[in-house]
Parts: sequence; C-alpha cells; structure tokens
Amino acid sequence: MLKKTNKIIIAGPCAAESQEQVINSAKELKKRGIKIMRASLWKPRTNPGFDGVGERGISWLAEATKIGLIIASEVLFPEQVNQVIKAIAKKGDPRKILFWLGSRNQNHQIQRLISLRIKKEAPSQVKLLIKNQPWLDEDHWLGIVCHVLSSGISPNRVILCHRGFSPNGGENPHNMRNIPDYEMAMRVKKRTGLLMIIDPSHSGGSVPNVFKVVKESRKYNFDGMMVEVHPNPEKAKTDKKQQLNFSQFDRLLKIF
Ligand code: PEP
Ligand code: MN
Repeated sequence: MLKKTNKIIIAGPCAAESQEQVINSAKELKKRGIKIMRASLWKPRTNPGFDGVGERGISWLAEATKIGLIIASEVLFPEQVNQVIKAIAKKGDPRKILFWLGSRNQNHQIQRLISLRIKKEAPSQVKLLIKNQPWLDEDHWLGIVCHVLSSGISPNRVILCHRGFSPNGGENPHNMRNIPDYEMAMRVKKRTGLLMIIDPSHSGGSVPNVFKVVKESRKYNFDGMMVEVHPNPEKAKTDKKQQLNFSQFDRLLKIF
C-alpha cells in the first residue's frame, strides 16, 4: 500500500500483452492506491521482435479506465493519438489517458506533431510524458522540450522522464542498462520549469538496479517515478529482467 504522497507514480507492465494481464495489473495497482498504469500498446524495439499488440489492446485499456485508472502508452505517430482517444471514448473514459514519447522516437518533427494532435484532439486532462533520448546530450533533451512546447500544448500537461543514457561501452560497474545523470535531470527540470520523474526500470535494467536507482534518486528533487511491474515477469514478452512482481513492488513503495 502506498504511503501518503504527492508524487506521481506510474506503474505497470512494459507492454500490454493480453486482456487478462492488463486487467489483473489494473486491479493490483488500484488495491495499492496507484492512479496511473503504464501498459504500452506500441513497443519500438532495439532489435525486431514483439512490437506491441497495437490497436487490438485499446479496449483492454478502456476497461482499465472504468476501474478508475489513468492509462499510459507510448505513441509513435500522430494517428495513434486519435486511434486511442476515439476507442477509449467509446468504451471508457478518454480523460484518463497519458501518452508518452519514447527515447527511440527522436524525430523532432514527429514529436511536435504528436504534441499538436494531443493539444487539438484530447480532453484537457490528458497529459504527455517525454523521455530523454538514449545518448548523453543535454542540448538535445532541451531541444525535444522546445519542439513539444512549440506545438502550443500547455506546459501543465507536460511531464519529463529521465531514463538514463546509454553506457556506450564506458565505465559501468553496476551493469546498468542506461546510466542516470541525476544532476543533468535536475538542471533540465530547472531550466524548463516542468515536472521531472525518474524511470528506474529502463535505467536499471534489472530488479536489484531498479532498487538502486530509486534509492539514489531520493537525494534529488524528482516529482515521481515510472516503474515496470508485471503480474508474472518471467512470462513477460519484453523487458523480463527488469520488471518487478507485485511483492517486489510493495517493497519498492516502502522505500520510495
Ligand atoms: C518504455 O518505457 O517502455 C521504453 C521502451 O523505454 P525507453 O523509451 O526509455 O527505452
Ligand atoms: Mn520496457
């Protein structure tokens, strides 16, 4: 169970895989007082493989909005914003959506068009989360934010998420998937005036490292976290190694 906190917590599976997995996750999260569930419909991959259930999963997410959760998915193209809003409006609550721009989606023009689409088509409660790009470059990260805000979307609807930077063969004693630069995240938060959360899953890359990143990040002024939790991580179709099960998630909430 979650202690009283004003922090943003987004938790749930890396990807939506089945109706049962989405609904089980939604119920477990709700029991713990979590308000936002991630379960991405689309999954851009480093190597070809399972790339998400796509549109087929939208009705599962719509059902989760009826359980009371805000659902979160990455979108790669502006059309996907419309697909999600339209289908959720039919079967659920279209105010309860958070879209995110993933780290591999680094076409600034597309980032801007997705933001514009959300501004134009989504109810005002719908938020947009932006992850940093995979490579270490503060100017590029600030550039993404400028492109997104140039769409005219209200900064109140935009949240930043630090998921670390690729180790690129450099020193990596803890075998992190992506190495956080907490100081940079705090500078970007200050310069943009936007909320900044941490993603311990895609930076850590393993269950012990998820705990390590959360512990380290407590020294900084993050506004919350996005963490991967799966009802059965061994069976997950993506990111098996880093997804927590629900009892590990309970332990994480105690130290958050
Ligand atoms: C994700 O959050 O599912 C993801 C793929 O993360 P990233 O874009 O940070 O690699
Ligand atoms: Mn993932």
